[in-house]
Amino acid sequence: MLGRMARWIRFMGYHATYADNSMTDDDIVKYCKERGLILLTRDISLAERAEKSVLIESPHIRDQLMQFLRIYGVNREKLMKICPVCDGSLEEVDKDLVQGDLPRGVLLENEEFWKCNRCGKVYWHGTHYRRITDEIEILVGAANEDEKR
Ligand SMILES: [Zn+2]
Repeated sequence: MLGRMARWIRFMGYHATYADNSMTDDDIVKYCKERGLILLTRDISLAERAEKSVLIESPHIRDQLMQFLRIYGVNREKLMKICPVCDGSLEEVDKDLVQGDLPRGVLLENEEFWKCNRCGKVYWHGTHYRRITDEIEILVGAANEDEKR
């Protein structure tokens, strides 16, 4: 399944999607082209047809992300700009506007919040965010090391 990979890629600042059985090959190629999406796929012919694609070979998430990073690198300015869940755009929102939706602890510890303009999910720079950004930096470091060899 490439859904997990797609969430990471979005987190890293790229609009991406993956092929599942919900669309025909023609439709997914068109869908990606219209929206400028990077298509993650295991299908060679689909990868060739898509305007932007990454042909995924490894079943392991770490290898998949390393492969992506070697091609695209990480877009640090765009971290946390794209909704990992739905590929919508995240916009900064006033704390007052999300007050009713979030647990007290989160509201006490955070001042900045972002909301997805598509699915409405609210994000903040909590421990989950930090764990993911740390993990990304580790992967970037490893990808750079590989390059030097
Ligand atoms: Zn969303």
